[in-house]
Amino acid sequence: MPATIFSKIIAGEIPCKKVYEDNQILAFHDIKPQAPVHVLIIPKVPIATIDDLEPADEALVGRLVLVAQRIARELGIAESGYRLVFNCRDHGGQEVHHIHLHLLGGRQLAWPPG
Ligand code: 5GP
Repeated sequence: MPATIFSKIIAGEIPCKKVYEDNQILAFHDIKPQAPVHVLIIPKVPIATIDDLEPADEALVGRLVLVAQRIARELGIAESGYRLVFNCRDHGGQEVHHIHLHLLGGRQLAWPPG
């Protein structure tokens, strides 16, 4: 898989506003936030799209969601609510081909999406 901007962020070659890190996962504020809280939660292992996940990735994907839950609580949006989004490929609006979970909150979010 070709290196993406997120590989460079994981390697520390590009700075980010980090909110969480462990040996498997990194989370940081989106550079172009779409809501008052917009955090990206990514695995350190590069997986291009959600369609590339394999059964062995089950626990990793579960951890992404639990890290999002933790960050939502820490940033004070758990009670008001939030949205978790994985964009997949062109029609899903995916621009960076390294899977990432968007955590969005801090305002009322529209539904359905455009
Ligand atoms: P996608 O459209 O692929 O689901 O979302 C990619 C997200 O990555 C976008 O919301 C975009 O603003 C964010 N992004 C792209 N480049 C950078 C960067 O260099 N730093 C940070 N923090 N976010 C980025």
